[in-house]
Amino acid sequence: MVRDYHILVLEDEPATRAMLATLLEAEGFRVSTAELGSQASELTANYNFDLIILDLNLPDEDGLYIARELRAKSDIGIIMLTSRKEDIDRVVGLEMGADDYVTKPFFPRELVARVKNLLRRLSMPRGGRRTDGVNGYDIRRFDGWEMDLAKRSLTDPTGREVNLTRAEFDLLTALVNSAGRVLSRDQLLDAIGSQFWTPVDRTIDVLVSRLRRKMETDPKAPTIIITSHGYGYKFAPAVANG
Ligand code: CA
Repeated sequence: MVRDYHILVLEDEPATRAMLATLLEAEGFRVSTAELGSQASELTANYNFDLIILDLNLPDEDGLYIARELRAKSDIGIIMLTSRKEDIDRVVGLEMGADDYVTKPFFPRELVARVKNLLRRLSMPRGGRRTDGVNGYDIRRFDGWEMDLAKRSLTDPTGREVNLTRAEFDLLTALVNSAGRVLSRDQLLDAIGSQFWTPVDRTIDVLVSRLRRKMETDPKAPTIIITSHGYGYKFAPAVANG
């Protein structure tokens, strides 16, 4: 499966860039590299990449801006490379569409595992997942919201469609299908098709934080997705299936 994937590495630091390229090529991936945001834009305009490893701090452009631009036009997998705690806060807090992030310095094996994980997640057919359409009912309604599992759409109480990334939608589906029950981070990772897990994994927390920004009136005082400290999350509203 690995052979068919084309990965773009955007990193201005020569040693890290070369290391990533060597590492991914050794795994059988086709790899292209760029050191500037402008080069990456040119490459993504001309080639179809499955995934980009994107350094947050680039000399010419902000990695977050690049991620947002890419996400607006494609389903490309985005793994952000960050170097500091403040970076992580920016990545988590902003609405920029990265699927995952890795903090420098990273273990090569961890990065490869995350790449494979994300590619696997992206290649899962839409609508074919086990959490979809339980009992043949595809619609979920709660507090004026409507979720269509077959169309993979979410509509807010004013009738406006809310754009969710693949992973956000899968996570919300898992939560909604278990409304009222606390799901562990492990169960939630499983629901989004993620096999790789470490005790410091924040994938689920990042996704929940993004969902809250899109759905909660006050993301700091959530009433829809509730935190169960040290364990996981619970979907609070009552859900009607239809
Ligand atoms: Ca850099």
